[in-house]
Amino acid sequence: MKKEKILVTAALPYANGRIHLGHLAGAYLPADIFVRYHRLNESDIVFVGGSDEHGVAITIAADKAGVTPQDIIDKYHNDNKTAFEKFGMSFDIYSRTSIPLHHETSKEFFLEFYKRGILNTKSSMQFYDDKAGMFLPDRYVEGTCPRCGNEAARSDECENCGSLYEPSELKNPISKVSGTTPVLKETTHWFFPLGDYQDRLKEYVKTQDEKYHWKDNVLQYCKGWFNDGLTDRAITRDLDWGVPVPLDDAKGKVLYVWFDAVLGYISATKELSEKLGDPDLWKKYWQDTNTRYIPFIGKDNVVFHCIVFPAMLMAWNDGKKPQYTLPENVPANEFLNFEGKKFSKSRNWGIDVLDFLDKFSPDSLRYALAFNLPELRDADFYWKEFQARYNNELADILGNFINRTMTFIFKHFDGKVPPLYELSERDNELLNVLETYPEKVGALYNRYKMKDGLAETMNLARAANKYFNDSEPWKAVKTDKEQCSTTLNICLQTIFTLAELFSPVIPFTSEKIFTILNAKPVAWKNAGKYNMQEGHVLNQPEILFRKIEDEVIDALINGLPKDETEQPKTEPELITIDDFKKVAIVVGEIVEAEAVQKSDKLLKLQVSEDIKGKKVLFVGNLKPAKLMGLDSEGMVLALESADGKLKVIEVPSDMKTGSKAR
Ligand SMILES: [Zn+2]
Repeated sequence: MKKEKILVTAALPYANGRIHLGHLAGAYLPADIFVRYHRLNESDIVFVGGSDEHGVAITIAADKAGVTPQDIIDKYHNDNKTAFEKFGMSFDIYSRTSIPLHHETSKEFFLEFYKRGILNTKSSMQFYDDKAGMFLPDRYVEGTCPRCGNEAARSDECENCGSLYEPSELKNPISKVSGTTPVLKETTHWFFPLGDYQDRLKEYVKTQDEKYHWKDNVLQYCKGWFNDGLTDRAITRDLDWGVPVPLDDAKGKVLYVWFDAVLGYISATKELSEKLGDPDLWKKYWQDTNTRYIPFIGKDNVVFHCIVFPAMLMAWNDGKKPQYTLPENVPANEFLNFEGKKFSKSRNWGIDVLDFLDKFSPDSLRYALAFNLPELRDADFYWKEFQARYNNELADILGNFINRTMTFIFKHFDGKVPPLYELSERDNELLNVLETYPEKVGALYNRYKMKDGLAETMNLARAANKYFNDSEPWKAVKTDKEQCSTTLNICLQTIFTLAELFSPVIPFTSEKIFTILNAKPVAWKNAGKYNMQEGHVLNQPEILFRKIEDEVIDALINGLPKDETEQPKTEPELITIDDFKKVAIVVGEIVEAEAVQKSDKLLKLQVSEDIKGKKVLFVGNLKPAKLMGLDSEGMVLALESADGKLKVIEVPSDMKTGSKAR
């Protein structure tokens, strides 16, 4: 049988920050589950990823940190590469878009389009910083929004009111680079005519959906873009960080990051081919019509993978051979939130992957995330749920079943696979279930239903525990040793099946189970068969899952930043009752009132009410101080209204002057 050829890519994260759990749930964990399943299913599969190291997001992060863009990408590329490794992402290569090979690939695509006259050029007015000698991308200019007056608006867009406008309309523009006022200068850019491909793209999405059943959320996004109508998109920018536009008259211009980022997948596969010493290997995946190409992404990338990238590949394929393979399906996930709110670095809300893996095992995270993937709608990560899944499912169901089986075998069967004797109805039932399981779970993983595949697998572990209970081997060992032997044999077959079927989701645990079984995985389709031979020597079991204590989880929850709206801006300083007693609040009579120059509040007090002759409360033992140039020995207590007006606290007129408040 010919092996199924599959190319899998996972969105390239920006190397301007650390990845968090939301990234994992969006694109990476589903991709890794899919790939690990297909490797065991003996597909010919290649899995590439890498860092997206271009774009304004990188230069802004560098400016903020006061370092070079290269420093930023080196740091975060390495951080994220390490995080992915610790998490168990089984990339064949984790590349980066700053490598020369990627610059070459991007330039090759640009030049191909340029030479064939596909690209349009357009001139527009853009802000230019004379002092810094550079054009300013939108995020580098701040000014006042011409629509709502927001003073932190960008050159052509206001985040406050959502308006888009021409840079010439922005009021009081300031360059964030030099702090000077930028001027508007004409600049020319190259545009990709996305609109020309609209009809073909619609047809492409329709055909692929009919054949491969695209996800509803993805189809909805595509529909939205098609309804709005695709238009020309600039593919170059005035910036000094990125892939330089390979034309003589394009000094100071680079390719717009969205254009080069998607090509990063091709470059990464080329880099892998070079590393494997087979430089043309990448063509066998990218340029073979039999390849199933599956890009895994989060919903924010749908437009680039369902519309922009296919259009670029169509444009290439129109005039050149061999042709590139377009995505078969784009199984984009929605977003994962954290404890009910969006992940936010600025608000310190959420947890990044490296910090998480300092505290808990990768499989604990993979399991909890896989059960909670935002496959069709946004989902939430909660610490309590994470703990419950780990303790109640991994430890109490899977861990318990393996532990009780192994302990029993080492106690009564000398640590060897016991023989299988006559099968009861119950025995046959479980063995039949085992046979059907690999196909059932595999079909779910192949259709991107990772949550369902995992739930089914956990159901098998539940059924196994029930089988152990119902078979009562602890009784049978005294009354019917053959029946007991058969039960334990079947339990071992089941553990083997579980070890294999769980391996796409919890690979580290799966490896430990195979070590205990002293066995190796088989082809996926055979995972439900008779894999543990009678007499085979097993290894001593180890505890697979140590429970996560409440205190650990409570500490993490208590450590979360408190919601700004629930918390007073400044905590009032607490004083003791003795402190309070020191303040002599006494009744006094206003004998004379006089306006104080320069003091708005005292002036307002004077004009807002006639207080002469009124009895009021005042603090009678303030240390003498100069206020507004006058000696002050007391302070009248007054209430301030919302509009800033002061009203003295009036005391009933029958109270004697000098009475003390307490
Ligand atoms: Zn505005």
